[in-house]
Amino acid sequence: MNKNAIMPMNEFSLIQTYFAAHALSRSDVLLGIGDDAALCQVPAGQVLAVSVDTLVAGAHFPLDTTPFDIGYKALAVNLSDMAAMGAQPAWFTLALTLPAADADWLAAFSRGLLHLAQQFQVALIGGDTTCGALTISVQIMGFCPPALAIKRQGAQVGEGIYVTGTLGDAGVALRVLLGEMALSQAQLAQVLPRLQRPTPRVAAGLALRGLASSAIDVSDGLLADLGHVLDSVGLGAELYLPDLPLSPLLQALPPALAWQMALTAGDDYELCFTLPVAHSAQVSQKLASSACVTRCTRIGTVTQAPGIVCLEAPERIYVVPSSSGYRHF
Ligand code: ADP
Ligand code: MG
Repeated sequence: MNKNAIMPMNEFSLIQTYFAAHALSRSDVLLGIGDDAALCQVPAGQVLAVSVDTLVAGAHFPLDTTPFDIGYKALAVNLSDMAAMGAQPAWFTLALTLPAADADWLAAFSRGLLHLAQQFQVALIGGDTTCGALTISVQIMGFCPPALAIKRQGAQVGEGIYVTGTLGDAGVALRVLLGEMALSQAQLAQVLPRLQRPTPRVAAGLALRGLASSAIDVSDGLLADLGHVLDSVGLGAELYLPDLPLSPLLQALPPALAWQMALTAGDDYELCFTLPVAHSAQVSQKLASSACVTRCTRIGTVTQAPGIVCLEAPERIYVVPSSSGYRHF
C-alpha cells in the first residue's frame, strides 16, 4: 500500500486527483468538471446521441478483474453504442459507486478509462461519486447528422447481414475464467483481451453512415442482438454458419462449439448491420481503410419469414442449442 492509500481522501480531492486532472480538453466543452452541470456545444445541423451503460461488479465483470480493465471496459461498451448508431462520440460522464476510496485502485481504474478516452478523443465532463457496492455507470454523448443515424429499425428483405471482426472470442474467454471450458495459458492469452479490452468499432460505425440500413452492437450474443434488429421490422434471417468470421483459436475448436460461442455468447462488441446489396462493394472498400481497423463479413440474408434460420451447409438447417443471449433478470 503506498502512502496515498492511507491518506484520507474526500470526494472532491478524489475527483480532482484521478479524473479532472487527466481529462482531455475539447474546444466544444465550454465548461467541464467542477460546476453543477457541464456545457457542451453540439455542431450546427447535428443531433445529440446519448447512451448510458452500467457495469456491476460480479455481474458484468468477474470480481478479480483488474481496475485498469474495469475502467477500460466501462468506456469501451459505451463507445460501442455510439459506433452502432453511426455517431461520433465526444463527451462522457462517470457515475462511480465505490466500496472504499482506495488510491491504488482509483489510479489504475482512471488510467484504464482515460487511456481509451485519449485514444478516441472523448472528454470526461462530469459525474457523480458515491459509496456502496462497486458499480460503474458511464453516460456517453456524441453527435450525428439526423438523417445519417443508423437505427436498429430499417432492414429490408434481401439485404445482406454483416458483422465486423470475429465473433465468440470474448465468450470463450469468459467460459474459461468461469471454469466452464479449459484452454492452455497461451490459448487463453489469444482471447482474453477480447473480453477485457474490446475494441469499439467507432470508425466502422462512421463509415456505415448513409450505407447500412440498420445496425446494432453485439453485446448479448449475435442471435439475440440480430433478433432485436429483425423484430423491429417483423422480418427474419437466414445465416450461413460456415461464413461466421472466427479467430484462429475458434476455428480450431469443434465447429458446434465455435458456432455456439459465435452465435450466443455476448461481450464481443462487434457491429452487426444490414446492407442493401448495391452498397456492399463501397462498404467493404471503406472498412478496408486503415482507420477502421476491422473488416466485415457477410453472414446471411434478411428474409420475409420471421425467425433466424441457421444453415450448416446449403439447405441443411442447424439447430443451435440454447439460443438465447445474456439475460439480466
Ligand atoms: P453536485 O453536488 O453539484 O451534484 P458533485 O459534488 O456531485 O456536484 O460533483 C462536483 C463536480 O465533480 C461536478 O462537476 C461533477 O460533475 C464532478 N464529478 C463528480 N464525480 C465525478 C467523477 N466520478 N468523474 C468526473 N467528474 C465527477
Ligand atoms: Mg452530484
